Amino acid sequence: MTTITTTSLPAAEQLRDRVRAALRAVGATTALTPPGDPGLVASTPITGETLFSVPETTAEQADAAIAEAAQAFTTWRTTPPPVRGALVARLGELLVAHKSELAELVTIEAGKITSEALGEVQEMIDICQFAVGLSRQLYGKTIASERPGHRLMETWHPLGVVGVITAFNFPVAVWSWNTAIALVCGDTVVWKPSELTPLTALACQALIERAADDVGAPRGVSRLVLGSRDVGERLVDDPRVALLSATGSVRMGQQVGPRVAQRFGKALLELGGNNAAIVTPSADLDLAVRGIVFSAAGTAGQRCTTLRRLIVHRSIADELVGRIVDAYRQLPVGDPAAADTLVGPLIHETAYRDMVRALDTARTDGGEVFGGERRIFDGEAGDTSYYVAPAVVRMPAQTDVVHAETFAPILYVLTYDELDEAIALNNAVPQGLSSSIFTLDMREAERFMSAEGSDCGIANVNIGTSGAEIGGAFGGEKQTGGGRESGSDAWKAYMRRATNTVNYSSELPLAQGVHFG
Ligand code: NAD
Repeated sequence: MTTITTTSLPAAEQLRDRVRAALRAVGATTALTPPGDPGLVASTPITGETLFSVPETTAEQADAAIAEAAQAFTTWRTTPPPVRGALVARLGELLVAHKSELAELVTIEAGKITSEALGEVQEMIDICQFAVGLSRQLYGKTIASERPGHRLMETWHPLGVVGVITAFNFPVAVWSWNTAIALVCGDTVVWKPSELTPLTALACQALIERAADDVGAPRGVSRLVLGSRDVGERLVDDPRVALLSATGSVRMGQQVGPRVAQRFGKALLELGGNNAAIVTPSADLDLAVRGIVFSAAGTAGQRCTTLRRLIVHRSIADELVGRIVDAYRQLPVGDPAAADTLVGPLIHETAYRDMVRALDTARTDGGEVFGGERRIFDGEAGDTSYYVAPAVVRMPAQTDVVHAETFAPILYVLTYDELDEAIALNNAVPQGLSSSIFTLDMREAERFMSAEGSDCGIANVNIGTSGAEIGGAFGGEKQTGGGRESGSDAWKAYMRRATNTVNYSSELPLAQGVHFG
């Protein structure tokens, strides 16, 4: 079903002007050519139209970018970490100065509403601040030695070139999580952003190059390559890339993980999620409804941490679902740059088709669907853009369609009677990224976070599944890939550990009491 609205979307030429202005402000100089010219298509989900053509990185250029990063590594690895931190501090300052322009590009290219786009850039600023502090805290342990006159310790060293492959839905933050930490750790970076978001990538690259120039760091510390999967594969297969940090679908992880392992490279995988929230009878329902609606409908359901499954106690299911459906009816869907919009567009037609297919399958499986209809806007862009009302689907059971991550705003609702059953449902999917429980019962909350509770990398209490802070380690288990990025000790993935034993005695005792000669 579709709903026609009389509001129209901005004209493509207006969006082009806004992109040109934002890129000019951040100092990006790459020539953009008209749509249809050879190169990578830069489009906008706001209208579904192509805005520009962007030069695509050739095989030779990708090779040169990796070579430059490898060359820069030879000096960057011995630059003192707090000096490396100065580069990241400068990047953070530039991000503060250009927050609104970068957010505008995120809105135009990824379709995020302004508040979420600004939030994404704020996350970049936050991780820069975290990394600057980290640049003075890259410490190893000293361990008790069993031998007299010996010291046993760990030292951490830079790895080399880090290849960063990112997804469309966090077009700038995921690059910064990786880059800020990798740079203070002494690594250099080559970034392959999503082919759907080259403009935001050009803006980020301009800012990191300016930061490098300002502090006297080589530009080779952070390079950009643009293109689709084949350009990404160059990073996957190149032995000069010591760590490949890849964010995207499980399908992508299944392709790149084994290839990196084949050459004994390191991989950090941040893949798809299928996140659930349990709502127990003791929950504060006002708070739960707010948390659920933001997690499930925010970003038009296009976050890896989007809430996709609601596991609610049978006794409160009707009331809770009724309140969510009411809230959904009031969610303004439309131009993500408009002040009152809360739900922007889906990224492209394929995402819309996937959503329609999933809802059809859910109906066949006995699901009862509320919402989910397409919203078509007046004007030429009506047909080429894909706006949808978020959907709630009451399911009789957790069927295959519920086990899959459909990257769209669909919230499946399941009911339970005993907490064990709810936790089993939470854990019954192949992915293991985020999860939450809404409860005021301390025993239920602790149980959910215990070893026999949620099997996810993120397990929250009384907040939704999305919207993580940078201070914690971010990532998930099972098909989500097992990687951890951002805060806590996630930096260790970007360094190699050496165990050092120093003998400062004049004897040579062997470990385990071994005598030799
Ligand atoms: P995608 O898998 O289609 O693409 C992601 C990136 O991988 C793109 O840059 C793409 O060009 C590249 N790529 C794809 N196949 C490749 C290959 N064989 N070799 C090298 N590069 C390859 O994902 P998407 O549609 O851009 O993003 C949505 C998906 O990403 C969802 O599944 C979402 O859950 C996931 N995601 C996960 C996280 C996380 O932190 N866990 C964060 C954001 C998005």
